[in-house]
Amino acid sequence: QTGARVQRLPLARFTTLGVGGEAEVWFVATHEQLAEAMSAPYRILGGGSNLVIADEGVPERVIRLSGPLAERDLTPDPDLSEGDALVTGWVGGGVPLPGLVRALQKLGLGNLEGTVGIPAQVGGAVWMNAGTRYGEMFDGLHTLEIATPDGLQVLSPDDLRWGYRNSGIPRGHIVTRVRLKLQRSTPEEVLAKMTLADTARKGQPKMKTPGCAFKNPGGVGAGRLIDEAGLKGTRVGGALIAPEHANFIVNLGGATAGDVHALLDLIRQRVGVPLELEYELWP
Ligand code: FAD
Repeated sequence: QTGARVQRLPLARFTTLGVGGEAEVWFVATHEQLAEAMSAPYRILGGGSNLVIADEGVPERVIRLSGPLAERDLTPDPDLSEGDALVTGWVGGGVPLPGLVRALQKLGLGNLEGTVGIPAQVGGAVWMNAGTRYGEMFDGLHTLEIATPDGLQVLSPDDLRWGYRNSGIPRGHIVTRVRLKLQRSTPEEVLAKMTLADTARKGQPKMKTPGCAFKNPGGVGAGRLIDEAGLKGTRVGGALIAPEHANFIVNLGGATAGDVHALLDLIRQRVGVPLELEYELWP
C-alpha cells in the first residue's frame, strides 16, 4: 500500500465538456504511487480539455497527477540559467496551464505566450505539443520526466521526434514533470504577445466544450464547411453546434456523450469531405 487516494467518481467533473460516466480515479502524488497505479490497465487524465468520455465511463483506472506532481517551482536553476535564458525547477504534469502562463507573464518570462487560453494541464499539453500559430509547448521545454511501464526517463526535447501537435511520446507514457526553458523579458512585453494569441480566440464560444471538433481538411476551415452545410445552431438533447463557431460543440447543460456523438455523426453525413476528429473519445 503506497497510499494513492482511490475513488469512484463521475469523470464529467474533470472535463471541460462536462460529460462522462464513472471510473476508478487514482490521485497519485508520488512516483511510487504512480508506479503502483500503472501496474494495471490505466488511462491518464489531464485537464480533460480534449476528451469526450462515454456516459458509461471507462473500465480502466484513471490516473490524475496531484500533490507535488501538480506543483510548480519556477526558481531559476543557477547552473543552467545564463543571461536572458532561464531554466526553472520542476513543474508538475498536473499543473493547470492557464495559471502557469499567468504566473510567467507576471514574472516577465517568455516562450510560452502562444499557449495562452488553452485549458489543459502541463502534462496533457506537452503530450500533444498543444499550441497556436503564436507558439507551442515545446518552445518552452528544457527537460521532460516521463513515467513508462519500464520506469522513469529523463529526456531533452532533442531526444523526441516532436512536431506539429505531437510530442513523439508514446500513448500511455506519462509526462510527470518538466523543466521550462524561458526567456527573460518584461511583464508588458509578455502580455503584448499573449494578447495577440488571445485576440485570435475572440470568435470561440465561452460555454462548456472540448475545443475544436474536427481538424481542418486540406487547409479549409472545418467550421466553414459545417456552417456551409447549414448546421450552425443544430441541437441534439443538451448538445449544440455553437452559433458563434460551427467547429465547436457545446454543452447547454445536461448533454450526454450520446448527444455529442449524434451531432458528430450528423456533421460527417452532411459535410461533403471526410473529416478527422480533433478530440479523443474515451473509451
Ligand atoms: P486531456 O484532455 O485530459 O487528455 C488528452 C490526451 O492527453 C489523452 O490522451 C490523455 O491521456 C493525454 N494526457 C493527459 N495528461 C497527460 C500526461 N501527464 N502525460 C501523458 N499524456 C497525458 N489545443 C491546442 O493545441 N491549441 C489550442 O489553441 C486549443 N484551444 C482550446 C480551447 C478550448 C476552449 C478547449 C476546451 C480546448 C482547446 N485545445 C487546444 C485542446 C486541448 O486543450 C489540448 O488538446 C490539450 O493539449 C489537452 O490537454 P489536457 O491536459 O486537457 O489533456
